[in-house]
Amino acid sequence: MLLDNDTHAKLVSLRQELHRHPELSGCEQKTSDRIAAFLEDYTPDELHRNLGGYGLAAVYKGKSPGPCVLIRCELDALPIEELGTAPYRSEIPGKGHLCGHDGHMTIVAGLAMLLQRTRPARGRVILLFQPAEETGAGAKAVIEDPAFAILKPDYAFALHNLPGMALHHVGLKPGAFNCASQGLWITLNGKTSHASNPEDGRSPALAMCELITAFAQLPQDRDFDREFALVTVVHARLGEEAFGIAPGFAKLMVTLRSENDQVMGLLQEKSEELVKQIGQRHNLETALGYEDIFTASTNNPDASEQLLKAFKAEEITLHTMTAPMRWSEDFGQFGHISKSAMFTLGSGLSQPQLHNPDFDFPDDLIETGTRIFHRVIRNILGPSN
Ligand SMILES: [Zn+2]
Ligand SMILES: [Zn+2]
Repeated sequence: MLLDNDTHAKLVSLRQELHRHPELSGCEQKTSDRIAAFLEDYTPDELHRNLGGYGLAAVYKGKSPGPCVLIRCELDALPIEELGTAPYRSEIPGKGHLCGHDGHMTIVAGLAMLLQRTRPARGRVILLFQPAEETGAGAKAVIEDPAFAILKPDYAFALHNLPGMALHHVGLKPGAFNCASQGLWITLNGKTSHASNPEDGRSPALAMCELITAFAQLPQDRDFDREFALVTVVHARLGEEAFGIAPGFAKLMVTLRSENDQVMGLLQEKSEELVKQIGQRHNLETALGYEDIFTASTNNPDASEQLLKAFKAEEITLHTMTAPMRWSEDFGQFGHISKSAMFTLGSGLSQPQLHNPDFDFPDDLIETGTRIFHRVIRNILGPSN
């Protein structure tokens, strides 16, 4: 065991404390304070606060110059009521750590405990606790923060726990790893009229239905060939709840998902064309916009190789993935400034899926996650035993 009983117990207690007090994206002040207080006991050489919001980074330095390795985890929880029954369940109504970010933070906190005992031989380690992953805003905000820009990592690594994969197993895929995704909202404006004289108004009802059908069929468009593209209509609203009024307004919300940023560009182009054509045909004014923008994340070959070496050394069972994860992750942003790679860590075959109200990060994974990252750090920065 890399973590002795006392160290492991401290980490489990930290994880459960974080789990009790979930905070939403961009509002992670208390979580950030709690992590900072924990890290101070493990004497990082530098502790940077308020990066891109409530982000924080602990830096551990080696004696000689060398590469800089960043390990990233996420601070935020979700606006979902937790239905779990654990004694440490969320104390905040309507909010829960149901993506396992409490566990990811604890794994990275475990690295701080190990790095305090043995600094890397060379280079630097950055332990980054990133805000606002769930909205896709946090990674970009951290990277654009001048206080982070000076840290300049050469490598960046992250993991996400994965329900449905055996506990302690890992999944890795070179190249495209997480899909790009964007939320597209569309409004259709016509004119209301008395429900007895719909011909006097301009109802967007048919246009809305045509758009829903067209969006459902869009991924079958020949231009997407065999590339992964997915369009999900997530919300639709038409007029008011009044039998006397023919509607004059509709709103649609659609999530676009693709394997890479090029396909996302094409999905956007085709979606906008559909809105324009159908809007014009029904004589409606249309508007559209994008929110929750996640670029695709791509695993760099060198960084993936470092993960593979660590899995092998730690005798971890590897599942080589053939398709990217459908979910999106703002970790992809770190691929623009460093060699980055992300892997999935199995959180058990019977574990409820992420974002389900009864999800709970298994404490058994803390040691496994810490062990893998610790091996990656030692392989790149030493000491080599
Ligand atoms: Zn999530
Ligand atoms: Zn997550």
